Amino acid sequence: MTAITPQPGIMDIALYEGGASQIDGVSNVVKLSSNENPFGPSEAAVEAYRRAAFDLHRYPSTDHAKLRAAIGEVHGLDPERIICGVGSDEIITFLCQAYVGPGDEVIHTEHGFAMYRISTLAAGGTPVEVPERERVTDIDAILDAVTDRTRLVFLANPNNPTGTMIGEAELARLADALPPHVLLVIDGAYAEYVEGYDGGAALIDARETVVMTRTFSKLYGLGGLRVGWGYGPKPIIDVLNRVRGPFNLSTAALAAAEAAIRDRDWAEKCRTDNTRLRAWLAEALAEHGVPSDTSTANFILARFGSADEAEACDAYLKTQGLIVRRVGSYKLPHCLRITVGDESACRRVAHAIGQFKGGAR
Ligand SMILES: *Cc1c(COP(=O)(O)O)cnc(C)c1O
Repeated sequence: MTAITPQPGIMDIALYEGGASQIDGVSNVVKLSSNENPFGPSEAAVEAYRRAAFDLHRYPSTDHAKLRAAIGEVHGLDPERIICGVGSDEIITFLCQAYVGPGDEVIHTEHGFAMYRISTLAAGGTPVEVPERERVTDIDAILDAVTDRTRLVFLANPNNPTGTMIGEAELARLADALPPHVLLVIDGAYAEYVEGYDGGAALIDARETVVMTRTFSKLYGLGGLRVGWGYGPKPIIDVLNRVRGPFNLSTAALAAAEAAIRDRDWAEKCRTDNTRLRAWLAEALAEHGVPSDTSTANFILARFGSADEAEACDAYLKTQGLIVRRVGSYKLPHCLRITVGDESACRRVAHAIGQFKGGAR
């Protein structure tokens, strides 16, 4: 027994499990388990990253002014109300650190992203899970769960791992109905994949109690660099900046992210290819008897008849060099989350699932 013990809540955190990336004894493996961009980042981003090598003896910018300006230009947002973090995970951490303590409650949905629970527990707070309706966010279930102790509501839109989303009118209804002591956090990790969706920016501009988180890890193909950002009312961004370390983002990460967001052609190509391939993959799986909800993100949630069938299919896909994501820890043991890869990856997945369903076990 040691007298050195962590803060309450810390030992309740289950370690985050990332998507697998290799299979022993199988070559030509395709990783479709972490919703990464199959086309990789913009060439301009890679070039900016290389150029940053010449400045490695210098500390990076502390205020991220250039990156915030670029984000502001592209999205039509006030750079003064943007904060950048080491992935949007860090923004989620800042929010919990700044607003949640022992006795406080944080609401997330049934199949919601694991980091909401992890960051809440790390801050000493209590995660409160609310049901979804057939794998879709249920605004009324969220509102029913609010108490005097509720501090934050985390909502991914589009959601992961379901791929579903709710419309802007529903989001506005939630924002309007929440009491003034509750901050609504709209996680827009996949917002870039939805044409014409602002991720909740207009809602934020009209209210004092809504923020959004965004990332360079998905559409921009920079998951390895760890860059994300948040946008919200000035007083809240000021609070988050107090808990942010001054040098949280490296020179290379800042430069690559700025180049990535300025390369609109690459972003648009990745978005439209994803939309096309996602529709093709969903239909091909449906033809093999594997349905999925209409996805608005860069993955689909394939539904099987049972947890056993999903597990068997996952095992078969592995023998074919295809790594997808089991989502039992998200209370979806009968499903597999499959990232939309490039055309050849989509064909391989569809073919393998067809073989599996046809009895190739
Ligand atoms: C991938 C993902 C993130 C992004 O995490 P980063 O830390 O920015 O890489 C955030 N929220 C959800 C729901 C995600 O799926």
